[in-house]
Amino acid sequence: MPERPILIAIDGPAGAGKSAAAREVAVRLGLPYLDTGAMYRAVALLACRAGLGPELDEAGRTAVIELARHLEVSFSGDPRAQRVAVNRRDATDELRTPEVSQMASVVSAIPEVRREMVPRQRELAARAGGIVEGRDIGTVVFPDATLKVFLTAAPEVRAKRRFDELARRGVTARWEDVLAEQYERDRRDSTRQDSPLRPAEGAVVVDTTRLSLADVVAAVVALVPRTP
Ligand code: C5P
Repeated sequence: MPERPILIAIDGPAGAGKSAAAREVAVRLGLPYLDTGAMYRAVALLACRAGLGPELDEAGRTAVIELARHLEVSFSGDPRAQRVAVNRRDATDELRTPEVSQMASVVSAIPEVRREMVPRQRELAARAGGIVEGRDIGTVVFPDATLKVFLTAAPEVRAKRRFDELARRGVTARWEDVLAEQYERDRRDSTRQDSPLRPAEGAVVVDTTRLSLADVVAAVVALVPRTP
């Protein structure tokens, strides 16, 4: 029997520290890193560029589904400095604006969009394994992952991390807006019908409220089953 590649699912709400931890774990273990949120963000970016907003009517939904079907998204570079190309143009920074973040949680609730993205995620990670980060990786995409981790943290701490990240990138935002947008995104992500955000069966829940990045990385690496 060929050995199954190591696949680690890292799920959790926005600002729980998934991205930073997943990237570091990937580097530490020498495994590929897959940011599935970037795929939904890519659909959202194209929708924003097409002039669509969070209130989608039927025609808007159909347009988003078409954008998802024709989307080309590719990743390059080291996990710590990964670049994302959308329809062959680098869009790494554009994918992280507050507008795209909100729109990503709208388009990702459309079942046809998920049906388009999930097989691509399986194809990208099934062969070589890796650290796969998202919302439904342990519940839907790879329910038989080697290890399933659900990272969480207090809402204010998560919003503070997002606020600081925006500031680092030179984006001015109001604290109240960051917190309100996060509540809205949490609500959408965890109440949607298709693949709502929740810990997978067998997932290890790690509360990162009082943990540093190094602590979180060490905790995840320690959970990886050792092969004899
Ligand atoms: O993780 P990130 O904040 O980049 O994800 C952006 C949005 O994409 C999330 O708010 C969520 O709505 C959606 N998403 C998802 N399923 C995933 C990854 C992200 O629905 N596996």
